[in-house]
Amino acid sequence: MRYKVNKDKCIGCGMCVGITNGTVFDFDEDDNLAKANNDEINDETKDLAIEACNSCPVGAIEKEN
Ligand code: SF4
Repeated sequence: MRYKVNKDKCIGCGMCVGITNGTVFDFDEDDNLAKANNDEINDETKDLAIEACNSCPVGAIEKEN
């Protein structure tokens, strides 16, 4: 599973960054919105990534295959 942040929806609340401790999701320095670091998805971070995806208050995290 790969993830993508829809920047048209993201409000930069930081929840996904906090849940994944800045691994799978981190802030994009260019716009202070979230971005996905799919290279960081592994056995340890996979469940946190799912939790972050499900916790986004505006549904900005999209799943890609
Ligand atoms: S939880 Fe959603 S709205 Fe908040 S920073 Fe992450 S992608 Fe953006």
